[in-house]
Amino acid sequence: MINGETRLVGIIGWPVEHSLSPVMHNAAFHHRGMNWAYVPLPVPPDRLRDAVRGLRALGFRGANVTIPHKQAVIPLVDSITPEAQAVGAVNTIVVESDGRMWGTNTDVLGFWSDLQAHDVQVEGERVLVLGAGGAARAVVYALARAGAQVTIANRTPARAVALARHMHHMLPARAFRVVEWTVQDLARAAEEHTILVNTTSVGMWPEVDASPWPTGVGFGRIRVVYDVIYRPQETRLLQHARAWGCKTIGGLGMLVRQGAEAWRLWTDQVPPVQVMEEAVRRGLAER
Ligand code: NDP
Repeated sequence: MINGETRLVGIIGWPVEHSLSPVMHNAAFHHRGMNWAYVPLPVPPDRLRDAVRGLRALGFRGANVTIPHKQAVIPLVDSITPEAQAVGAVNTIVVESDGRMWGTNTDVLGFWSDLQAHDVQVEGERVLVLGAGGAARAVVYALARAGAQVTIANRTPARAVALARHMHHMLPARAFRVVEWTVQDLARAAEEHTILVNTTSVGMWPEVDASPWPTGVGFGRIRVVYDVIYRPQETRLLQHARAWGCKTIGGLGMLVRQGAEAWRLWTDQVPPVQVMEEAVRRGLAER
């Protein structure tokens, strides 16, 4: 029941009505019997500054931030974490009791902890990352920080080079390679890497027959394939990789665990990850 004691969190975006986050977070609050509520907060771009200030004035404990505000919100909070700096985007705001607001990006930990949950060790491994957009930033940073040797391939090569430079700036002790987005280069890379992560949107619903991996090319020495796409839960890429004998992991776990990390930051409690995952699965099935 919502009353004067209810603690508030929410999601700022434009639009936000399709977000799975309210269902995921409220399921966790309900499961724990906590008097908290997570509300969708549709905010047009010209109202973002007022909305972020409003979190403090209205006593919110924090908020998630989604498209199109994840970059624009950076100068509106008091500080950001190295994760948010690396990704160049804030997806979670925490409001402290003194009103101080800080921003972070929980995609980094979401991806990292999902790898842990699947028993995938990356230290010293050669990892090939497809894509150089927002999800790639979180993935590349998480991998490199954990000691992986990361190679990036992207359709637009300049974006791969820019990402490699930015990550080297964030983690100077690490080197980042870039390979061309061609059949020959990807086939060669498959012989030189043990883990493949797709961060492109290729294969995402409704284009479920598409795959970022070239047709007819095997996976070489790759033994783990991770696809950050969560709709569908098993993409065409993962189907092919599974048939090749690779261990395959879809993006649902990353989605749930980035949310669980935000939940942990706001509540200071261990999140009920399983409950959150079931809520997201139900939400996806209803679409
Ligand atoms: P961006 O728009 O930032 O990046 C898209 C990437 O996909 C770019 O590298 C782009 O290449 C590449 N791409 C798009 N179309 C093609 C194509 N036809 N052929 C080759 N490459 C292509 O998107 P995001 O990084 O934000 O999201 C990417 C995917 O990750 C989405 O499916 C999203 O749902 C998912 N995601 C999942 C998360 C999770 O928690 N599981 C979290 C965040 C995202 P180019 O630079 O050449 O345009």
